Amino acid sequence: MKDDNFLRENNARHLWHPMGHPGALQENPPTIFTGAEGVYLHDIDGHKVVDAVGGLWCVNLGYTNDALKATIAERVHTLPYCSNFGGSTNDAAIEASFAVREFFAEDGMARVFFTSGGSDAVDTALRLARQYHRLRGEPGRTKFLSLKKGYHGTHWGGASVNGNNRFRINYEPLLPGCHHLPAPYTYRNPFNETDPEKLADGIVAAMADEIAFHGAGSIAAFIMEPILGAGGVLVPHDSLMPRLRDMCADHGILFIADEVICGFGRTGAWTGSRKFGVKPDMMTVAKGITSAYFPVGGCLVSDEVAEVFETSGADGAIFTGYTYSAHPVGAAAVVTCLSETLRLETKSNAGPRGAQLYEGALKLAEKYDCVGDVRGGVGLMCGIELVKDRATKEPMDMDTMNRVHRATYEAGTNVRLGANNILMSPPLVISETEVQTILDSLDAGLAVV
Ligand code: PMP
Repeated sequence: MKDDNFLRENNARHLWHPMGHPGALQENPPTIFTGAEGVYLHDIDGHKVVDAVGGLWCVNLGYTNDALKATIAERVHTLPYCSNFGGSTNDAAIEASFAVREFFAEDGMARVFFTSGGSDAVDTALRLARQYHRLRGEPGRTKFLSLKKGYHGTHWGGASVNGNNRFRINYEPLLPGCHHLPAPYTYRNPFNETDPEKLADGIVAAMADEIAFHGAGSIAAFIMEPILGAGGVLVPHDSLMPRLRDMCADHGILFIADEVICGFGRTGAWTGSRKFGVKPDMMTVAKGITSAYFPVGGCLVSDEVAEVFETSGADGAIFTGYTYSAHPVGAAAVVTCLSETLRLETKSNAGPRGAQLYEGALKLAEKYDCVGDVRGGVGLMCGIELVKDRATKEPMDMDTMNRVHRATYEAGTNVRLGANNILMSPPLVISETEVQTILDSLDAGLAVV
């Protein structure tokens, strides 16, 4: 390991960061983390802070899961790599597919296609959706519907269904035939609708309108996050997901639940789909599947979708995949992570700790005028939107957002900024005292506005 001076001097010089401006990062170098334990991160300057972001919505079991660490170390020694293309596989991959199938049986998922992360999982799902329709004799079904403000990764397919201009604009033209419905965002929407149920009515009507406009026979799939995470923790009305699911079923459109954040207990249920009482045709997962100790994602499909592929002769062959699909170390991490997730019953902690965080954030909104909106209350994720003026809802400027972030950090908590939102999704194993630390830090952070 290089010494601290080397790290400080070379910070952001040679490394381009995702979602960061390379020049700006050189001028204002990122925090260097050197260690972690429990829900805490340690930085090179000696700070120890609560990680209210859970890595990046992913370190669900916290940083000290010994079983997971031991599994990974052991697997690196016995079989550090094995291809899963066509004719070979490995014991861990088989065990992982069994564990995933068990975990998602209640959601109706029958098969898993492993990937290296969430973006891969989304692209796999979009490809398989088109192939599914081809196999069933409807090759004209190629279009995709999704929600504005949704985040589905950064590959071409995922970026095309993404509902946030920031992730699209520099990379246009993206995939043709991707159309976006309004977001379940009560604080800002074109209808000025603040009632979540009425806004859901509007979104359902928009889907009906898009289907009529394009013709159901041209649409392959609809993809949505049960709760929109990166878009600002947008919690839809309970009725939205089931109604959209039913409409897709009525029109032969595959329903893909992007569970990359919501899966594995984040919403207080094992999946976001289960939370809202929906059985999708496909699911995409990543992050919590290994608690981020090893990069793994997956595309899951229902019995019905699986059957179409498995009974389709030569055309059912899947010509997509990754060198690291069902990587033995990742697969072993999946097996242990799922059994640890079940053993620790993390979904049961997400509910009360999430309520504590949400209610605490609502109290901060009473104290600070710069808080325009607080979102969450379903499981352990929370978004706080800052504005310059409550009446006009003008978004807070980034300079002030950065000052709030820094002051919150100095007070003991690392949060994430998504434009003018403070985003939080702490490890699901967090304690009541640690959530209180997050709230106290936010109190200190907001005081600088
Ligand atoms: N889908 C959702 C809902 C996500 O939140 C993310 C990542 N934040 C992705 C897909 C992409 O996952 P990855 O970054 O692992 O490629």
